[in-house]
Amino acid sequence: MSSRVAEILLPIPFDHGFDYALPEDHKLQEGSFVRVPFRSGVMDGIVWNLTPPKSGYQGKLKSIISAPLFDPLSPELVKFIKWVAFYTLAPVGLVYKMVITHKEMLDFGKEVKYFALSPSASTLEKTLSMTRPRLRVKDCLLENGALPLSDLTYLAEISGSVVKRLEELGFLETHFVEETLPCEFPKILPDRPPLEPDQQAAAEQLVRALDHKEFKPFLLDGVTGSGKTEVYFEAIARAISQEKQSLVMLPEIALSSQWSTRFEERFGFAPLQWHSGLTQPQRKKNWHKIHQGLAPVVIGARSSLFLPYKNLGVIIVDEEHDASYKQEEVVLYNARDMAVVRAHLEKIPVVLASATPSVETVTNADERKYTHLLLPTRFGAATLPPIHLIDMRDQEKVSQEWISGDLKTQMEIALESNQQIMLFLNRRGYAPLTLCRSCGYREMCEHCAAWLVEHRHGKQLHCHHCGYNKPMPKVCGECDAEESYVSCGPGVERIAEEAAAKFPNAKVEVVASDTYAGPDEMATLVDKVNKGQVDILIGTQMMAKGYHFPNLTLVGVIDADLGLSGGDLRAGERTYQLLHQVAGRAGRADKKGQVLLQTYMPEHPIMQALSHGGREEFLNQEINEREMATMPPFGKLVGVIISGSHLHIVEDSARRLARSFPVSAEASVLGPTPAPLAMLRGQHRWRLLVKCTRETKAQSLVRHWVDQTPLSPKVRVQIDVDPYSFY
Ligand code: ADP
Ligand code: ZN
Repeated sequence: MSSRVAEILLPIPFDHGFDYALPEDHKLQEGSFVRVPFRSGVMDGIVWNLTPPKSGYQGKLKSIISAPLFDPLSPELVKFIKWVAFYTLAPVGLVYKMVITHKEMLDFGKEVKYFALSPSASTLEKTLSMTRPRLRVKDCLLENGALPLSDLTYLAEISGSVVKRLEELGFLETHFVEETLPCEFPKILPDRPPLEPDQQAAAEQLVRALDHKEFKPFLLDGVTGSGKTEVYFEAIARAISQEKQSLVMLPEIALSSQWSTRFEERFGFAPLQWHSGLTQPQRKKNWHKIHQGLAPVVIGARSSLFLPYKNLGVIIVDEEHDASYKQEEVVLYNARDMAVVRAHLEKIPVVLASATPSVETVTNADERKYTHLLLPTRFGAATLPPIHLIDMRDQEKVSQEWISGDLKTQMEIALESNQQIMLFLNRRGYAPLTLCRSCGYREMCEHCAAWLVEHRHGKQLHCHHCGYNKPMPKVCGECDAEESYVSCGPGVERIAEEAAAKFPNAKVEVVASDTYAGPDEMATLVDKVNKGQVDILIGTQMMAKGYHFPNLTLVGVIDADLGLSGGDLRAGERTYQLLHQVAGRAGRADKKGQVLLQTYMPEHPIMQALSHGGREEFLNQEINEREMATMPPFGKLVGVIISGSHLHIVEDSARRLARSFPVSAEASVLGPTPAPLAMLRGQHRWRLLVKCTRETKAQSLVRHWVDQTPLSPKVRVQIDVDPYSFY
């Protein structure tokens, strides 16, 4: 029997791998894929440690079953997995799971079974009972030809049993196809557009860093429309000519279709998109293309950072300030920060691009850790739109209306000259508050300590935290009064209603995450807007980012003050970024734009900074305040959330943790307190917040503290290093 042992990392929530006996003649190295027996089945993992310390094995070790033919994960990626687990305090097995993304990812290179309509299908159709699912299978295959099972069930929205039965009945026939990966590395690049001098200077720095094959972080800082994308395209072009892969991360995958179109115009081939809308076989194929180095350019949301690039040349993080780079579940990490770590391990440049860079990134640039590349003006004839404040205290108040007289006047002018308008309100649904007129009762979520929000288009009440929904009740849940619910305040649906009433001839479109979900739907919308089939676009924050609508000249913000309440660490910064970003949608081409912000606080420093273009003052003030309070990035925060189904056990555990905290000059703990969202999905929640100096080894401190405090097994402890949300 072999005397050698390997520790195998599996994609399950453990902080370590599992020991297995190595075959005598193995050719494995750290990062090699292997299949092992696990519990009653088998599981795929990677070799984590080839010579783990021998510690009292009980009985005989099980042996590795087989090793697939693919290349191992690169040493850089193995290091990255370790690093992310160390930094976020997440189980290393779960970080590895983000790399393989799916447990069957390694079942590749085999023959795949395809389904098609059999020659006798049309005859059989007359005798079979053609239920709706069966008809969908037929239509789907007529449209697509042959499909593998998972694509067919996904596209036809049916279960596998429907397909199986149709195969048995002879309605479908099958054949096997070998999975292959075409090489898509383009050799010749088209000419690039001439760059402006600022763009040229910035692009040269990026290209130089690529040539030097060195880790170098850049802040690419330029107002919206200044041509940042054109600049980082130059870095991608260089990477392609070096036959290296580029990763472009976008905060929201909905943005990817417009980005891809533009990329394709410039480069003549499509980037590989990585997103949740892919079918399982598509994901698998894309994953292997990336792993084999056959995908030159990958575009995706934060999860694309964990893919197994063979030969990464550059990482771009577009809209780097965006809070959606922070993942808030399972492994809590900030993809922007982890991108810098990955670039460091891969020894490549990383570009953080934004018109409103985060305080963290600006501080890193100020401290010369990042190279600051500045594009001060909009490209070509386009100018930044002026931002005017509408003091709502001076506007005539009309009950149940939120579009002020001044905004309405400007909307009329824009519509008369056939220009498009965007109204922005960061609130989904019809009304944020629905209550009973006779007794004041409000409908709450059954699973969360949160009010339900009325969505009129489906006549439903929704919980925005857990997704629970129910039909709008006809009678009050408390006093049984009929038709007594009244809606208070506006959401985007209600603003759409008001806009339609004020401008009956205008074409109004509402865009929120519950109405426009995926990249395809967004592509349709972008197309509609660009064809002039929309006059007034009404959107939440998902409309604020990245879109380029040449004919859109007026942006109206319904409630500019909305994000300022609540007062968490980044409330001011986030409001500034969001409103600036929304404003950037106006006047992006040759027509001049303008932005109107409706506010009750026109003297607020953020409103002043927005209307006077005072970004530097605003940033300086924000940075000074953070420095004085030793808040991030001048201090470090770690959130700890205790949750469980019994309130007293949750509270007791939180108090125990607080008592056992090793208070020192470097670190203190705030709380415990019930979380602002005191119940989520049926779980009670309490919070603690650790605050320490930048120099503190926060991870080992927190790990030691939590591990040493005896807690009930009935509570879950979630650790959030560098928290973004505090609810
Ligand atoms: P940003 O990414 O900073 O918002 P973009 O790169 O999207 O800016 O540029 C804004 C617009 O200007 C786009 O339509 C883009 O095609 C155009 N543009 C930018 N730089 C150039 C250039 N050097 N030559 C031609 N068009 C450019
Ligand atoms: Zn809920």
